[in-house]
Amino acid sequence: MSQLAIGVDIGGGSIKAGLYDRKGAELIHQVVATPVHLTNDTFLEAVFQSIEPLLHHPGILGIGIGSPGPLDNERGILIESANMPSLKHVPIKEYCNQKFNLPIFYENDANCAALGEAVFGEYKHLSSLLILTLGTGIGGGFVDRGVLFSGYQGNGIEIGHMTAVINGAVCGCGQRGCLETYFSTKGLIARYLEKTNQTLLDAKEFFDQVESKNPIALEILNFGILAMAETVRSAIHLLNPEGVIFVGGITSAWHLFGDRLQQMIRERIFTVLNDRLIIAKGGNLAGSLGAASLVFQGQLNDR
Ligand SMILES: [Zn+2]
Repeated sequence: MSQLAIGVDIGGGSIKAGLYDRKGAELIHQVVATPVHLTNDTFLEAVFQSIEPLLHHPGILGIGIGSPGPLDNERGILIESANMPSLKHVPIKEYCNQKFNLPIFYENDANCAALGEAVFGEYKHLSSLLILTLGTGIGGGFVDRGVLFSGYQGNGIEIGHMTAVINGAVCGCGQRGCLETYFSTKGLIARYLEKTNQTLLDAKEFFDQVESKNPIALEILNFGILAMAETVRSAIHLLNPEGVIFVGGITSAWHLFGDRLQQMIRERIFTVLNDRLIIAKGGNLAGSLGAASLVFQGQLNDR
């Protein structure tokens, strides 16, 4: 019998569930819009609606769920979410355990993305991977010999909130100088607004300015690359991964910063690490596939 897993990717606007086989091929998926009147109950009902149509296949091993945090992965609770402020202490795992007779796995979405990349991505052959997700904010994940390191209650490897600049710009988390205030969609737009009084809509608009050699956009990007290189340097010396892989929407502009970023990281780490360290752009795998990989890895690790 085929071995399948359901992966659920919870975002601010929608809940996407996919049914995957062990090779990462998607058999079927279901997308449900996040309810306009959002409460814990309407949210959980939408989670149910995304999963229920996928259950009519034999061989499903379990359900993996990824959501923004902070969360408690042991008790399976979404504590709160900046994009869904009306949710508080949502008991996702308990609810799904009651509704579905399958093992339930629940982790932070950046950790799911990291595990998905480590299980199904181009660099899956490497023994340990530090993965950075560059999007609206910056997420991170660390997978060592197939095991996801998620920290106490699942909130580890928040690399976007490591200090890149002492006493730097104010971050959404309330602190100053976090990496994501310099190299995420939110950060790049905020730095551009600060210098020009102009509001850009998205990262594409920012990188369009870079491509047209706007000196302010270039200055912001160059400082962002420096902030990223310093932070990744610290993370490499802390974790000693075999590969550092960048994923997420901003990597579509990799040609505008990837080579310089790689060079600046390499200039800053122990020389001995440079010979074998891989620094690269990964694939942009679906968030739901990352969540499904929790199920496949959970099976392996339980043996
Ligand atoms: Zn922060």
